[in-house]
Amino acid sequence: MDYFLNEEQKMILKVVKDIAQDKILPVRQELDEKEEFPWEILREMAKADLFRIFIPEPYEGAGMGNFDLCIVTEEIAKVCAGIATSYAANALGAEPIMLFGTEEQKRKYLPQIASGEKLAGFGLTESGAGSDVAGIKTTAVKDGDNYILNGTKQWITNGGEAEIYSVIASTNPKRGARGLSAFIVEKGTEGFSFGKKENKLGIRSSATRELVFANAKVPKENIIGKEGMGFIVAMRTFDLTRTGVGALALGIAEGALEEAIKYAKERIQFGQLISSFQAIQIMLADMATQVEAAKSLVYSVAHYIDTGAKNYSKESAMAKMFASDVAMKVTTDAIQVFGGYGYMKDYPVEKMMRDAKITQIYEGTNQIQRLVIANRLLKEF
Ligand SMILES: Cc1cc2nc3c(=O)[nH]c(=O)nc-3n(C[C@H](O)[C@H](O)[C@H](O)COP(=O)(O)OP(=O)(O)OC[C@H]3O[C@@H](n4cnc5c(N)ncnc54)[C@H](O)[C@@H]3O)c2cc1C
Repeated sequence: MDYFLNEEQKMILKVVKDIAQDKILPVRQELDEKEEFPWEILREMAKADLFRIFIPEPYEGAGMGNFDLCIVTEEIAKVCAGIATSYAANALGAEPIMLFGTEEQKRKYLPQIASGEKLAGFGLTESGAGSDVAGIKTTAVKDGDNYILNGTKQWITNGGEAEIYSVIASTNPKRGARGLSAFIVEKGTEGFSFGKKENKLGIRSSATRELVFANAKVPKENIIGKEGMGFIVAMRTFDLTRTGVGALALGIAEGALEEAIKYAKERIQFGQLISSFQAIQIMLADMATQVEAAKSLVYSVAHYIDTGAKNYSKESAMAKMFASDVAMKVTTDAIQVFGGYGYMKDYPVEKMMRDAKITQIYEGTNQIQRLVIANRLLKEF
């Protein structure tokens, strides 16, 4: 299908495709096996100005939109979702500053993120607070010119590698979600360190670590918005970035479909190509239809956001949920098309299935997306 990309978008995609084919494809399996963070590739992407895409022009960005960020993320995820996750999580970390930061904060942090000189991350989740954000136990207590942070964030993407973190902590534990506040915390801040690095099922080249705050001294001017706005900062951020997870999931599904078609046209059983069997053709047809449906939804929601729409939580939750369910189904079916070979590490589809699973979990599980969608629906009608 033609999604009518403009010349600039086609040019950017050509650059991304070249990086994906020349730099990512040859090393993706090794990075996955060794759980190695893809610094070299991220630097290549920065050189190609891909970190500037979503940052506004006054802060040395390219001033492009949610749609453009989505198509870049999708293109990388076709080849490696671990690298696409590191790239997308950078936007997740930067978005609170873009949405709610002061002019001073934007001028200080966004150019460094745009150039790729510094990577960003987003710290919300804790061991006891996943879907239930109100359960956050990390505290931030005002002390003169600083906030003193104490607590541990768990499973933070780009943890340890990023220099700039948007962190949600409680400034008023009695008020639950309404007592949460958002802060910019820099690597190197006194009392801020990194804990356990996770050994994961998929997206293994992305870093997932604990952020540990032990009387961490964060300057008071690093608060994002005002005290008590942390929940809103987090939710408005997710509204924007969930289309990115949708795009990432879409890329994984597209990559798996392509591999399945290629394989079906090579593998011979019963003296004929397996692509001649209707059972295989039907699977491929279903996979392709789901991919196209996910693409239409992700692309239209991203475009809708770029029109300046005010409320799109329902739509971005739909895009994330639908595309990630498609990614899981399509990658599982891709292994089926490969048969036993699909289960082996000699072919990329087993990695794609492992990678797809996380898209149903992070930035809110798909059960939580359904709650968001239902909540909006019931309010709208
Ligand atoms: C690899 C990885 C990277 C991550 N990166 C980040 C990051 O960069 N920053 C960050 O802050 N977090 C990150 N996370 C955390 C992620 O967002 C959470 O794991 C996710 O929100 C779910 O929380 P949980 O794992 O605690 O599951 P739980 O909330 O414990 O949920 C367990 C199960 O119960 C279901 N459930 C929970 N509540 C309800 C409900 N009300 N109704 C119906 N079902 C419900 C869930 O859908 C799920 O199936 C990451 C996680 C992983 C695994």
